[in-house]
Amino acid sequence: MDYKSLLRDSIKVLPESQRAARQPKSSTTTPDIYRLNYNESAYGPSPVALEALAEASKRPYIYPDWFSVELKSNFAELHGLENMFNVITATGSSALINILGEVFINPGDEFIVGDPSYEAFRDVAMVNGAVPVVVPLDDEMNYDLDAMLAAVTPKTKIMVICNPNNPTGTFVDSAKLEEFIKKVPGHVLVVIDEAYLEFVSAPNTYSMIKLIKEGYTKPLLILKTFSKAYGMAGLRIGVGAAQPDLISLLTKSGAAWNISALGQAMAAAALKDQAYIQKIHDLNEVERTKVDSALKEMGCKVYKSETNFIMFKAPKDSLEIQAKLAENKVLIGAPRGFCRVSLGTAEMNDKFLSLMKEILK
Ligand SMILES: *Cc1c(COP(=O)(O)O)cnc(C)c1O
Repeated sequence: MDYKSLLRDSIKVLPESQRAARQPKSSTTTPDIYRLNYNESAYGPSPVALEALAEASKRPYIYPDWFSVELKSNFAELHGLENMFNVITATGSSALINILGEVFINPGDEFIVGDPSYEAFRDVAMVNGAVPVVVPLDDEMNYDLDAMLAAVTPKTKIMVICNPNNPTGTFVDSAKLEEFIKKVPGHVLVVIDEAYLEFVSAPNTYSMIKLIKEGYTKPLLILKTFSKAYGMAGLRIGVGAAQPDLISLLTKSGAAWNISALGQAMAAAALKDQAYIQKIHDLNEVERTKVDSALKEMGCKVYKSETNFIMFKAPKDSLEIQAKLAENKVLIGAPRGFCRVSLGTAEMNDKFLSLMKEILK
């Protein structure tokens, strides 16, 4: 039986996902393995969030709140949004990205992304038969905003900017991004993925949720996640912010419902502990500065990161570096000829750096 004949046309022609190809064969992991390849938080979640998790875990037999009222309300409050109808939740921002395809994409629609950037967006475009319009980043791995705007056609359905971007770690100044968003024609849904915004140290940084708050009416969706600074990647909680009319379209997808009760309770509590998020930001900034200068001293080209990871090019093959580190139980990413290392605790980063010294000697 050739099961492939069952496939949707858009999936039949799909090349194998680069993300899927990059996964290790087994995901078993032990504490002695330093996972500096997924941009997870080495610090874990706030103690306040862990307490909420422990409390919620006493009642696993109760269905979760279908509407995630507490989580959405706390999120709205934190960002100064009017109410929970500005907010959507799903099992990770990955699920929100999939919802974009499910709800908005017709075959042949154009979907503008930067390159290199987060592969999930290109995947969702292709799975749904859209045409990914790939706009290269500049030499320093910054978005070429003029080229992004020039790529818009009457067929453009969605444009995505990850700010900061993954895998590059680079960041567009908030005021500059706001000005850019306002230039994009109103038939294009602009998606701003702020998975790493909590780590940014650049002055005058703010979330593009500001525009939603101000009543901006052109289609705009801001994505946030609890997987990175909040240290809850395993709980799978993603949040989106937009005008209520846009949110209600997104909730046509079944994936907008039924996120786990444990994740909801934990995320709702975590939002209340912003002092912890500030602490994580500060710890990460110290480590980022240290790893950035150490890699430069070793002769690597290091791209300016505002995140909890650093992309660099070493004077040696990236796959070889990745393999040598893995032999020593340190995992890093090697996207497209570059290396990408997540920032861990000081101890983890020091081990990474001393291995790198050996490898590049
Ligand atoms: C890690 C990451 C996410 C988060 O995905 P989740 O499904 O919420 O874990 C989203 N966007 C980007 C760019 C990321 O790097």
